[in-house]
Amino acid sequence: MENYIIKNNNGISYLQFTKLLEYEDIVKHAISLKPIDIGSNDTLLNIKNEISVGAHCMCPWQRMINNYQKLCNAINLDYKRVYRPYQTHTDIVKCVENEEAGVFTKNFKDVDALITNKKNKILSISIADCIDLLFFDPIKKVIANTHSGWQGTYKLISKKTVEKMVDNYGCNPKDIICCIGPSIRKCHFEVDEDLSEKFYEKFKHLSKIDDIISKGRIEENKQKYNIDTVLINKETMIEMGLKEENIIDCGLCTVCNSDKFHSYRVEKELAGRNTGIICMCNANSLQ
Ligand SMILES: [Zn+2]
Repeated sequence: MENYIIKNNNGISYLQFTKLLEYEDIVKHAISLKPIDIGSNDTLLNIKNEISVGAHCMCPWQRMINNYQKLCNAINLDYKRVYRPYQTHTDIVKCVENEEAGVFTKNFKDVDALITNKKNKILSISIADCIDLLFFDPIKKVIANTHSGWQGTYKLISKKTVEKMVDNYGCNPKDIICCIGPSIRKCHFEVDEDLSEKFYEKFKHLSKIDDIISKGRIEENKQKYNIDTVLINKETMIEMGLKEENIIDCGLCTVCNSDKFHSYRVEKELAGRNTGIICMCNANSLQ
């Protein structure tokens, strides 16, 4: 049996993890599928770039807001409570306290992971091939949402997220659930020798290093390598004390499934963005 389901609610499709649905009365989450597109940093900041939607033209910012509204409505959340950081492949993890909600607010510039123990704060991460990690500690009631592309993986942002959950909120790693969203997988994450060597040096202590980096094809006499960034994140979290059964990986490759998910490798600069959202709520009450 799959560990996730794909729901379709009035034409809005999204993925949900069955493990998190066990706590649906206190935590809500979704990872959007196409055609939902929350836009890349570049398209959103280029306001001249209009997109035609049916007979109308809509600026990318308005389209993003509409898409957040549709996705949030589908799981009974108020889109005005979305916190979307301006992600720049950093290893910066920030806690959401009482800052104003919104997209790209100054408090969350150059931030790639958000944590909170407060209710009604929708943590949103944007992705197109990068890994989205949704964290939930059902004991301490803390959530986190982490953007771990290859750069964030190399900089250990998943480890830094867990450390901050422990240090700031008293979480015990063995209680933390981590769900791994659709991302580019080893089948398609191909790099040159210099980057594979950097990864090898950084992660050679991991027990599964031989599965993490493999020789791939040869192109123009150059050896290519395939790297399993998801496995690096899993091994790192096990090292941090998370239980293997609490690390839930949907196993989906965004490149193999680019009909369903936005993929930077496939669509390049034109690629839209998926979003993973997670929010804690009051038990049994709509907001
Ligand atoms: Zn693939």
